[in-house]
Parts: sequence; C-alpha cells; structure tokens
Amino acid sequence: MKNAAGFLLWLLALVIAVAFALILPINGYLMNLLMQASTYAIAVLGMTVVLGYAGQINIAQAAFFGIGAYGVAIGTTTLGMAFFAALALGAVVALGFGIVLGGSTLKLGGHYLAMVTISFQEIVTLVLTNWIGVSHGPDGISNIPRPHLGFLALDQSRHYLALCLFFLFVTAGLVAWLKSSRLGLSMQAVRDNELAAGVAGIDTYRIKIIAFAASACLGGLGGGLFAGAFRYISPDQFAFDDSVVLLTMALLGGVDAAIGAVIGTALLILLPEWLRFLKQFYLAVYGLAVILIMVFMPQGIFGYFARLFRRAPDLPRGEVAPLTLGASAGTGRPILEISGLSKHFGGLRAVDEVDLAIESGSVHALIGPNGSGKTTTLNLLSGIYRPTAGRIRLGGRDVAGLAPHLLAAAGIGRTFQNIRLFHSLTAFENVLIGSFRVGSGEHDAQSRRERALAALDFVGMAARAPVLVSSLPYGHQRLVEIARALAANPTLLLLDEPAAGLNLTEKQNLVALLRRLRGHGLTILLIEHDMDLVEQISDRITVLNFGRRIADGTPAEVLRHPDVVAAYLGEVAEDVTA
Ligand code: ADP
Ligand code: MG
Repeated sequence: MKNAAGFLLWLLALVIAVAFALILPINGYLMNLLMQASTYAIAVLGMTVVLGYAGQINIAQAAFFGIGAYGVAIGTTTLGMAFFAALALGAVVALGFGIVLGGSTLKLGGHYLAMVTISFQEIVTLVLTNWIGVSHGPDGISNIPRPHLGFLALDQSRHYLALCLFFLFVTAGLVAWLKSSRLGLSMQAVRDNELAAGVAGIDTYRIKIIAFAASACLGGLGGGLFAGAFRYISPDQFAFDDSVVLLTMALLGGVDAAIGAVIGTALLILLPEWLRFLKQFYLAVYGLAVILIMVFMPQGIFGYFARLFRRAPDLPRGEVAPLTLGASAGTGRPILEISGLSKHFGGLRAVDEVDLAIESGSVHALIGPNGSGKTTTLNLLSGIYRPTAGRIRLGGRDVAGLAPHLLAAAGIGRTFQNIRLFHSLTAFENVLIGSFRVGSGEHDAQSRRERALAALDFVGMAARAPVLVSSLPYGHQRLVEIARALAANPTLLLLDEPAAGLNLTEKQNLVALLRRLRGHGLTILLIEHDMDLVEQISDRITVLNFGRRIADGTPAEVLRHPDVVAAYLGEVAEDVTA
C-alpha cells in the first residue's frame, strides 16, 4: 500500500528529527532559529490549506498566530491554566475567529476577502497594543512557562524543540493526508472551478469556511507553541508584515503541498543567516532572491520539483464494473415541469415566461439561435441563477432557486458550454468528485472510487484516468465532464452543446454515447446547434428565440415550423452581414 509506506516514512522522519533535537549539541542561537522555524511552519501549513488547497486568500495569519500566542501567555500567566489547556484555548479562539470572519466574507470572495483579512489583522494588532489590562499592551507578556508532560518537564529548550517538531510533523502529516481526502479534493475543486464544484454537489461556501477556519486554527496552534518557545511575546511580533512573511513562505515553498510549507519557512528563516556576510546589501539580495524564485518557480520550490515527479493516483484495481444508472421511475411521465420561467438581466429578458415539460426517459432538445436564452435556462435549472419568476418542479418537488449543490442532491447533473473541469486534478479525481454525492459511509468510499472509474469507462476514458485533465485533448475533456456528471447518478442530465468543437468521428461517438444513456433510461435535456445530431437523437424539441418559447413538439413538427425556419434563417442572414 502506498499510504502505509508513506506513513512509515513519515514516522521514521519524525523519530529522527525528535532524536536529533534531543541528542545533537545545538547552541542557543540555532535553537531559537529552529524553534521559530518549526512554530512558524505550523502556521504556514494553515496557509497551505486555505490558499493552496481552497484557493482563498488570508492576509491575517500573523493575527491568528498572535491570538494563539496570547492564548498561551494569558492562559498560563494570568489565568493560571496548564500549558496544554492554554494552547488548546488559543487554537480554539483562533478557530472561532476564523469561522466568524470566514462565514461573514467568504460569500463575497476574492478582493473582499483580502481586504477583510487585512482589516482584521490591523484590528488584532490595535487590540493587543491597547487593551493593556489584558494584553499588557506594548510591553508584552514575559515569563511564559513551558509545559510538563506528566513527570517530564519540557523546560529545557531541546526538549521543547522536540515538542514543537512533534506538533509540526503531526500537522504536516495531517495536511498532506488531507490533500487526497474527500474534504481536500472538495477544496481543490472549489479552488479550480467554484461554479463546477457547486454543480458537482459541493457546498462551496461550507468548504471555504472549513478551510479558512482550519487555517486560522493552525495559525493559533503555531502561535501558542511560539509563545512557549520564547517565553516572551509582544504585539509587534504579530503585525501585518508578519502576515506577509507567512504568506511569502507558503508561496515560496509551494502552496499546494505540505512539504512546500516546511521548505518555504525554513528557507525564509535561514536565508537571512546565510546572507549575513553581505552586510548592508543583505536586504537587497534577500529581496532579489525571493523575487527570482517566484518568477522562475511560480508553483514554488516544491511545486517546481513535484511537477517532475508526479505521483500516479491510486486507482481501484481489477475489472471495471459496469456503470449503474438509476433509471427514472415511471417512464413517460414528466420528470421536470417548468412554467412561466423568467430571468431578466436589467432590461434584458434572457428567459421570458418559458414553459417546458420533460418526460422521464426521453432525450429533449433545447434549440435556438445564439443568445436565445438556452444556457441561461440551464443555469436556472442547475441553481447558478435564481429565477426572476416562474416555477421549476423536479419529480413533483419545487426546486426553483435552490443552491447548485442542493439541486445536484435533488438529481440534476450538467456539463458546461465552455468545459469546466478541475484543471489541476487528474481525470479520475475529477470524476471521483462527481461521485461524492453517492453514499456517505466508510464502505461507500471504496464503491465511489469504483463508480468513478466505471463512469470514466462508460464514456471510453478509463485508460486516461491517471492523466492530468488539463493535458487531455478537447474532445476527451468533454467526455470527462460528462463522466463527472454521470458519476453522481443524476435523474436528469443537462448537456450544454456537447458536440461543439468535436470532429466528425467524435460527434458520431457522442451520438452513440447519448443513445446508450437513453438506453439506460436516463432523462436528458440537450442543448445543441448541430441539427443533424438533434434530429437523430431527440424525442422532443423545444425552440427558444429571444428568450421566448416559439415552438415545442416532435422533431418532424418543430423543424418544419415556419417560426423556427424564420428564426434560423434570420440568424444565418445576420451571420452573413456580421
Ligand atoms: P444561448 O442561447 O446562446 O445559450 P444565453 O442564455 O447564454 O444564450 O444568453 C441569453 C442572453 O442573456 C444573451 O443576450 C446574453 O448576453 C444574456 N446574458 C447571459 N448571461 C448574462 C449575465 N450573467 N448578465 C447579463 N446578461 C447575460
Ligand atoms: Mg449557450
């Protein structure tokens, strides 16, 4: 087992590191550097989770570090708590702030998050400086005690360093393990493509809060250990500059991996020592070195080398089982009923009082000229937009206005007109994320992996499972996106122009694939421009023009309908003059 070997290696490194800390002669100066590096690295690992995995910026990690440090300082000195209780207190308070701060801003994302975290950083610095009764103000808190472990006092620095290294190894191990877990993959899905993550069934807001809070908690843990290491803390150690340093450490080492955090931290703490001989030029060379690394290794140092040795994912072995698709009950009855559905963008009526009923087990095409509201209709059905008016009933249940992940849970799966995959993950991981909706227990984890491979096999992509999805050709990416939707076992599959950009052979394969899906009783709503394809495959067609429904019926009825002919001829005429 790959995991077992990794675990043993990790355990061996842990034992060696702790043994060296206990045995090697380390002078006081080096001791301080090592304690600083190991406690900082824990906070930087928090940045790996929030920025590296979940793609959310946090420019307040020094504030969370400070909250943890003051938790230990105030807890042990003022409140007389035991060290480890105070350490837990600091980490939990940081976690609480992380939840509140993340919860209030992560819906906004992007620049707002950067601004809010900077503000939070400044507020924490102000409070630590001015709340003299509690924090002792700018004087800081001294005589912070170190812990006892039963009868073993960790008073000596080498013992305390061993403790810090132990915490660092445990955190780094957890963060590394997180990356390929369900939670970690969900974070990376949110980072790579938030819209697609929601549609694949991930509660993106919840995942972002978890990542942010976990990062804050690790910041607090690192800070708490830092306070015990130096036994004296003051507010200026946890300022905005320090948040920038923690951010730089993460980016420099490689923000996408736990090892990157350790490398970046060690480098930024050691680099000044190595460059000391440069005297007055030291800062300039130091800055230049950081810039050069970032320019030539944008993925960070570890990211740069990891590219060269990418590990193949652990795929389920043995025969690939056939994909099971839950055929919709009651074939022939409407599974989806839309009435009076509208979506206005300002004055533009992108979708205008559309009625539509899709029979269970049928392939229903939605056609119309460019800009007629087809994609917008799909966005309403998958929860990306809220309808301005109208009703959407899925299997008799009112689902209009639900969030994407709830609609996914209700059985809606989809693909996008401009393919939206999780580009830094493998084809297998992309489809595995789609399968997260199915089952929940421990036993289900293995069957989800098998299901993901089965879905890839169904679209003919099983052989490409271990390949990074961004390196696949366009046509294959389309198939992987369909497999991702199928892995969730949808009751209604929405396909937005699946044939766009495909060559003739690929189109024929697509038709065969759609036929097989219909054979399994899957209900499909298909947006498509290729009329041949539409005619070959659809049971029913609805035509939109300028957001309004202008025709609805069997292919034979609809394609000869005078309004439809006019709408399409109109488009051709426009195209000629455009
Ligand atoms: P299509 O039928 O080609 O898929 P769309 O549904 O994408 O058409 O677009 C319908 C109309 O709505 C177009 O005029 C488009 O410009 C407009 N539209 C789509 N999304 C938005 C948006 N988010 N904001 C403003 N206008 C939009
Ligand atoms: Mg479209």
